[in-house]
Amino acid sequence: MRAWRAFIALLEFATSMSVCPVCMSARTRLRWRGLRDRLFATTEERFDVAHCRDCGAHFLDPMPAFAKLAAYYPDDYWVGPSDRNPQRAAQGGLLERYRMFVLRDHVAFVRHVLAAQRQRNQLVKVLDVGCGDGSFLEALGERGCTGMDLSVPALRAVRARGIQAVRGMLTDCPLAAGQFSLVTAYHFLEHVHPIEPVLYAMRKLLAPGGEIVVQVPNCDSWQAKLLGRFWAGYDVPRHQVDYSARTFCQTLERCGFEIVKTNHHCLRDNPTTVANSLVPWLYPPTRMSRKGGARGLGAVLANLAYLGVTLASMPFCFVESLFSHGASVMVHARPRTEKP
Ligand SMILES: [Zn+2]
Repeated sequence: MRAWRAFIALLEFATSMSVCPVCMSARTRLRWRGLRDRLFATTEERFDVAHCRDCGAHFLDPMPAFAKLAAYYPDDYWVGPSDRNPQRAAQGGLLERYRMFVLRDHVAFVRHVLAAQRQRNQLVKVLDVGCGDGSFLEALGERGCTGMDLSVPALRAVRARGIQAVRGMLTDCPLAAGQFSLVTAYHFLEHVHPIEPVLYAMRKLLAPGGEIVVQVPNCDSWQAKLLGRFWAGYDVPRHQVDYSARTFCQTLERCGFEIVKTNHHCLRDNPTTVANSLVPWLYPPTRMSRKGGARGLGAVLANLAYLGVTLASMPFCFVESLFSHGASVMVHARPRTEKP
């Protein structure tokens, strides 16, 4: 038995890699070697993913250089189809309606937060960071919302919806501090490393009584465990760090927030993560980012096939979310006030 333990310890030491970027533990190991960009094929490079034995986080190891990151994002990343793009109107209209429909979980969660803010006479003002094409802000239907993103095509799409949009990063923010009652960031924080300056910058933008709603993929979900290296929630190489729901909440707490509520149900993201894992070549933005890939009967059939896989995975996603192991976690948090 002693020899076995020594062997395991030696194996752990031999496979231990970088320090975990979330909890600073040295108990990390290489989980997968040579992963490629399955969803968008932006690069021929291969990437290694490490796993922290203590907090469960997964991270690219080594982290790509900041200067290389932009090349891993196709122009259409998170922009998607729009009725306002005439070249894509035929399919875009249908997909646009689908996208607005499946945003219902995000919208319901945030409306609940805003209703409570109004009850305590807070002036409601929302900023969505990493806003993509602005579909969430349009679905929310609040006046005076602002979207922030780095992508110029995304900002163009936001403004086409009649929503104010600013180009910038939280850590080099063009917006005045202390003005928002709510800052939201959906599937954004897993793209940034280190996360701490971003969360501090988010906190700085909040008015007194302000709150945040943030969502990340949950690498402790049942589908992540079942699908392993093929789980699209890792979105290699665009995700720097993927958190478990527990570790993500602990990270927020470490950065001065208190958790108000969490939710694992997400009609938009959880079933599509299964579909993107099983049939990444059918993901509509992937096909649309290819030249000539968004037309004809073939495209319609591909959309229907993708929708079929998505619908088929919904019961499983509902059950895993019910047991707090959904593919994403949405967190409502507010800055912690120190007790005197
Ligand atoms: Zn860790």
